[in-house]
Amino acid sequence: MSEQKQCPECGSSEIVEDAHYSQNQLVCVECGYVLTEGLLTTTLSDETHFQVVRFTQSTEQTKQPTRSKIRGLKRVRDLCKILCLPYVCEEKAVSYYQRAFDHPSYHTVRVEKKEILVGCCVYVSCRQHNWPLTVSTICSLLHADKGLFTTVFLNVIKEFELDVPAQSLTDLVKTYCDSFQVFQNSRSVPPKFVEEKEKVVQRASQIVELASETWLVTGRHPIPIIIAASYLAWQSLRPADRLSCSLLRFCKLAGVDFPSPASLRLKEISEVLAKLASQLAWLRVLNLNKKTVVKYIGDILHHRIVLLRNAIKSTFDATAAGHSCANEESTQDEPETTPGTSETTDLLTGAPSRKGDVDLTSKRKALLFLPPCLLNPKKKTRNSEELNSTELNVTGDEDISDSEIEQYLRTPEEIKVFQRAHNAVGLS
Ligand SMILES: [Zn+2]
Repeated sequence: MSEQKQCPECGSSEIVEDAHYSQNQLVCVECGYVLTEGLLTTTLSDETHFQVVRFTQSTEQTKQPTRSKIRGLKRVRDLCKILCLPYVCEEKAVSYYQRAFDHPSYHTVRVEKKEILVGCCVYVSCRQHNWPLTVSTICSLLHADKGLFTTVFLNVIKEFELDVPAQSLTDLVKTYCDSFQVFQNSRSVPPKFVEEKEKVVQRASQIVELASETWLVTGRHPIPIIIAASYLAWQSLRPADRLSCSLLRFCKLAGVDFPSPASLRLKEISEVLAKLASQLAWLRVLNLNKKTVVKYIGDILHHRIVLLRNAIKSTFDATAAGHSCANEESTQDEPETTPGTSETTDLLTGAPSRKGDVDLTSKRKALLFLPPCLLNPKKKTRNSEELNSTELNVTGDEDISDSEIEQYLRTPEEIKVFQRAHNAVGLS
């Protein structure tokens, strides 16, 4: 097949056969023009479509996205469609994926991580558009490990310096309550347990708001809080029939999972409600506990802003009074002391209770709203003064005696015993 040919590009007759991509081609030596074109493909996706691609196209530096990028972008769009996200959300997610994919730090990651990257971009976009979507939802859709998801997510927001606003709890209440089955008549739900969804959502949102104002939300998983709040809301809408129904049974009826922290959140929220109830004159006389308070949740929520303000104001007054009679200088160096923090330092340092203050202290504690981890600390906090004094004495220049080092070395006897044990394990 070697009749003299001429290059149509430069007119040269120096045409050689050149094996390229294991296919023989006729190539001009002078300018590299390819006279015959075989089945050369640029990308695997082209190959799967059996499209013939010109050799010149295959060698040219294309800005065409790679196969895995195209697939990833499609996955992002698919995921957004499944979640019924608004278009802006989808576009943002796509642009994040594009950015992440082109970034050098994601060039060599495993396929599994690239898959999670899809979810991360969608999740970040949702958070930025205030669209309530949980990590659990994303992970279950992608069959992804939550730990790995977190790693990638933290990496993405650090790498691209993204600002990810906090999850809006009230929006989450709405979507989460949608999945409850107590809002329609069904055979498994007795009629007295069926409730209008709107009422539960509205009341549960208020309870969640109250919980967040009283430090029960910060640092916690949102779902157990929402479950506890919606359970309380649901109970309080018809207390006579529903007080006997436990949280566990409620979850079963609603058809949602029962996360174990939910019962703890329920206890904490009920305690806050009971505290607030003691502020209302007509409820104080009833001496409500966290069980009986459920009946009056509607009342408490109605007045919650005034009640909270009163509680904080009286705490502040009590704290100010307490400080004025004792250690004044300790508050002086913290000019912007909120009632919460000043009380915290008191509780942490365990300042000796002042004479005649017992009544005041107990009153303050009763009204105060602090994060539960401060109210019931598991470990005794170390005395800071003691810690400082021992730390200051050590400089790192002290003498190290031989005997001190020798205690870390094996004796000949110990070496023998270890050797014997090692051999015994090796033989078995
Ligand atoms: Zn040529």
